[in-house]
Order: sequence, then C-alpha cells, then structure tokens
Amino acid sequence: GGADLECDMLVLGAGPGGYSAAFRAADLGMKVVLVERYATLGGVCLNVGCIPSKALLHVAAVMDEVSHFDTLGISYGKPKIELDKLRAHKGKVVGKLTGGLSAMAKMRKVTVVRGSGRFVDPHHLEVEETSGEGQQATGKKQTVKFRNAIIAAGSQAVSLPFMPKDPRVVDSTGALELASIPKRMLILGGGIIGLEMGTVYSTLGSRLDVVEMLDGLMQGADRDLVRVWQKMNAPRFDNIMLKTKTVGAEATKGGILVRFEGEQAPKEPQVYDLVLQAVGRSPNGAKIGADKAGVIVGERGYIPVDIQMRTNVPHIFAIGDIVGQPMLAHKAVHEAHVAAEAAAGEKSTFNARVIPSVAYTDPEVAWVGLTEEQAKAQGLAIKKGMFPWTASGRAIANTRDEGFTKLLFDAETHRIVGGGIVGTHAGDLISEVALAIEMGADEVDVGKTIHPHPTLGESVGMAAEIAHGTCTDVP
Ligand code: FAD
Repeated sequence: GGADLECDMLVLGAGPGGYSAAFRAADLGMKVVLVERYATLGGVCLNVGCIPSKALLHVAAVMDEVSHFDTLGISYGKPKIELDKLRAHKGKVVGKLTGGLSAMAKMRKVTVVRGSGRFVDPHHLEVEETSGEGQQATGKKQTVKFRNAIIAAGSQAVSLPFMPKDPRVVDSTGALELASIPKRMLILGGGIIGLEMGTVYSTLGSRLDVVEMLDGLMQGADRDLVRVWQKMNAPRFDNIMLKTKTVGAEATKGGILVRFEGEQAPKEPQVYDLVLQAVGRSPNGAKIGADKAGVIVGERGYIPVDIQMRTNVPHIFAIGDIVGQPMLAHKAVHEAHVAAEAAAGEKSTFNARVIPSVAYTDPEVAWVGLTEEQAKAQGLAIKKGMFPWTASGRAIANTRDEGFTKLLFDAETHRIVGGGIVGTHAGDLISEVALAIEMGADEVDVGKTIHPHPTLGESVGMAAEIAHGTCTDVP
C-alpha cells in the first residue's frame, strides 16, 4: 500500500527507551520516525514518573531536614504550603527536560509523529493522530513505511478490578497531579513507587496506611537496609498492613471505604480521603497490533527478545518496560542503544552484569548485584563488609548517620558480587558499587582506591577494607 512517510527506522513510543533508540539510530545515519501519542517526548519517566516524583521528593526531603533544625538552634516555624506553586515548579522541571528532548530530536532530524500507532503489517504502522493532554483521537490517520522498527511502547499502571471509578482513587499519575493533600491516604502496594509518593504526601501533611500482600515493604532489597528506612519512617504511618490484601472498596460521601483480609487486616473497613493504587505496572505489548507484524507477544503482554533486543521478526526490536523486569529507565536506555546499533549491523548485545535499584525515599535505599538473601539462596559463600555511618564524619556532620554501606564479596575469589546502601544520597553512591562489579574488582581494588574525605562515598572504600580486615576507621 501507499505510505505517507518512509524511514529506515521507526520507533514506537518516546520514553527513555524510545528517544534513546531514535537518537542513536539517527547518529548512526538512519532516517528515523519517532511515533508518540503524548504531547511531549520523554514517556512515563519524564512526564509522569522518575522526574516529577523526584522534583517533589526533593522538596519533601528539604522540608523534613529543616523541620529538625530547631534542635540545632535554627527554627523556621510551621511551613506554609502553596500547592499551585509547587505544581508549577514540578511542571517547570518536567518542561525543561521534555523541551530539551524536542530540541535534540530536531537537531538530529528525527521526524516526530504525534499519534497512537498500530502495526498493519511487518513494514507498515498506522498512526491515528492524537491531540491535547488527554490524547484524544482527531480522526486523522497516516501510514509510516519502515525498514526496521523498535517497539518502545512501555507500560501502564495496573488497577484492581473492584476499585470504584472516583477522583479519590488514583494511580501514580493521579498522585503526581497533587490535586489536594488528603488527611488519610492508603497506599495499595508497598513497592518503591507507592512509598515514594507516600513520602511526598506525608511530608505535606497526610497520614499514611500501607497494605502489602507479601511479608515486607520494598521487596527486592535486603531487610537490614529496609529496617533502617522503616524505623525512621514509622512516624508517617498509622498502619502498616503486611500479608494483607484489599478485597473490596466503595465510594462513599465521607471517603473511599476499603475492606481488607489477611494477617494484619483491621476488622473494620477503613475510610480514606485518597487511595493510591501502586500494585505494579503491566506492559503495553497487546495494544499495538503486534500480531499484524508477526511479532510474538507473551501472555502477560511482554514481548520476548534476544540479547540484541530482536523480536522473533528479525527487523523488529523491542526495548524497555515492554520486554520485562526490571521496569527501570536506565535499563531501557541501555537496551535502546543495543537495539539501534544491532539494527545498524553492529555486534552490540545487552550484557549488563547488574542493574541498580533505588528507592528515592528518605533515607534512600539502593542496591545492586546480589543481595545477601540471594547469595544465601544460591549457596554462595560470601564475605561481608558493613560500614555503619555512625563512623562517618560526613554523615555525622550532616546529622544523618542512620545509614550504612554494605558490600558483598565472593569468599573464594574475593570479587565484589553485590552491595546495598541505606542513607541520604544512597542512590548516587551505588554507582561506584555497580562499576566495581562490572570491572570485576575485589576488596583490595575497592579498599585501596583513595576516596575523598570527608564524603559519604568513603563508606564504600571503608566497607571493602572491613571485608578485607584492614579498616582503621571503626572500633
Ligand atoms: P515509557 O516511558 O512507558 O514510554 C512509552 C511511551 O510510549 C509513552 O510515552 C507512551 O505514551 C508511548 N506509547 C505507548 N503505546 C503507544 C502507541 N500505540 N502509539 C504511540 N505511542 C505509544 N524508573 C527509574 O529508573 N527511576 C525512577 O526513579 C523511576 N521512578 C518512577 C516513578 C513513577 C511514578 C513511575 C510510574 C515509574 C518510575 N520509573 C522509574 C519507571 C520508568 O518510568 C520506566 O521504567 C521507563 O519510563 C520505561 O521507559 P520505556 O521507554 O520503556 O517506556
């Protein structure tokens, strides 16, 4: 059939995966068309994920920090909160970044097509134009003919079937809108996204409940890390319900009435002014007409790919949230580069040893590589180096010495296999551990690397020295 546009590379979706793939493909000399239904580039991460949440978390962290300053002889009084201004600030942060992406797309001569795309065959995508914030279809359609394609259509928040449609029931996107500050807020799901949003709301004045089916919050991280976060954050919560399920909900005049079942379920239904559903995200694989292109989509909507990010159709690749866990922006970006390079005939493969995880709560919790629990489960003998921040001059000067840095080494080879950090800036500090793992460093490599004093980063060197038995900075 005829086509309105032709290209070497079609990229479907302009999140961190999609724009990174489009830019790399353009840099490699391909004529690129990037299709996105949102008004701006950047996908979930920039528009309604990583970036707006961090803009708000930064404000919350500063508020929490200065709220303790009276003990240091500095008082500010009760904060005055103007939500309009805070929302505008968040919007400006997002706008700076998404605007930057548009400029970068132009510079690279990437053609951006606004609309919702569906494959019609292995070489054509039909795009139905969308407009406005709500992605309304305008009825206008165009067809893009492509030689290669990269699917980067991401994921969407899962909602429980029995949740009433009500403005007081939101997903992370709704929570980021910050329409008002509820008195009582329920977080459904004790994962990173829910706990980050809960941190923001509780600092702004909400009382929190959280319900989690499993036996602990922030699954995936070692419990010793989570305990430090939980101890400091206990005052935010009225009720932490573990091994408990939400089994029903009803919109009433006084709030959303929620029923629970499980080990720590309250007997009576509870009433909330806001319910945040943060029970996971599901991939958009089944919504893009992949079958028309011959691309296999798994049962749960994930698209299977090989180490070059190729689907079963050799000229069509897939990357990011749509190919599987972990659903993280930095994973999507690396996969994007591999896919674009592979399409250009390069031998690139996705072979990252480790992908770091960070909860940007206060304190932050970050981990990479094997956790202690995983090492145990695998029967791997490990040597542990644990440096408590009570021995860090910088952490004490910061009045934030509750954290620790933990490194895990293979007991036989002495090579680093994992690490976890809890404390302020843990997310920034974990990169060194990731680098050490990728480089195959051992405890001497990390311990003998001179770290600047006094920094929190020193704690990584110290933890290695502790594992090696040569640390002079702890009793
Ligand atoms: P997405 O970012 O989901 O982008 C997919 C894009 O495709 C979207 O823009 C969508 O509109 C578009 N699209 C989908 N279907 C079509 C179609 N048919 N036609 C046209 N366009 C289409 N990750 C981190 O690493 N760090 C964090 O701090 C972090 N915080 C988060 C906080 C929140 C609240 C949320 C929800 C997520 C967070 N994430 C974080 C996860 C991160 O946002 C995702 O892993 C990342 O955005 C995935 O990138 P992607 O390119 O695969 O897809």
